[in-house]
Amino acid sequence: MHEWALAESVVKTLKNRKKTVFEAEVIFGTLQDIDEEIFTFALKEILNQEDFKVKIKITKEDAVFECLSCGKIFDLKEGTKDEIEKENIHFLPEMAKVFLKCPSCKAKDFEIKKGRGLSLKLKEK
Ligand SMILES: [Zn+2]
Repeated sequence: MHEWALAESVVKTLKNRKKTVFEAEVIFGTLQDIDEEIFTFALKEILNQEDFKVKIKITKEDAVFECLSCGKIFDLKEGTKDEIEKENIHFLPEMAKVFLKCPSCKAKDFEIKKGRGLSLKLKEK
């Protein structure tokens, strides 16, 4: 449960730049083990205690993989056909390496290009 710690570091980042930032976009990758509900709740709670207002937008980012042997770019849907496997991958990002394979050359050697963890995009004044 690191949602609160993550929410705190997001707020800390915003606080450091509160003079310039007016909107923050929190991007959730599909491959992460963060509970979005807990995180959003934590973020609101912490922000309520602060003396500045910033618009927070939460968006989702789909996972994208790149095959290391043939260079094919593929997503979660192409990498596996199994719904249960997809669930596992969603909750345990490290499982992606076990379940997914390149749809074109079937290699299990790939890199996660997008959609992992959480990132922050700031819009400035
Ligand atoms: Zn490949």
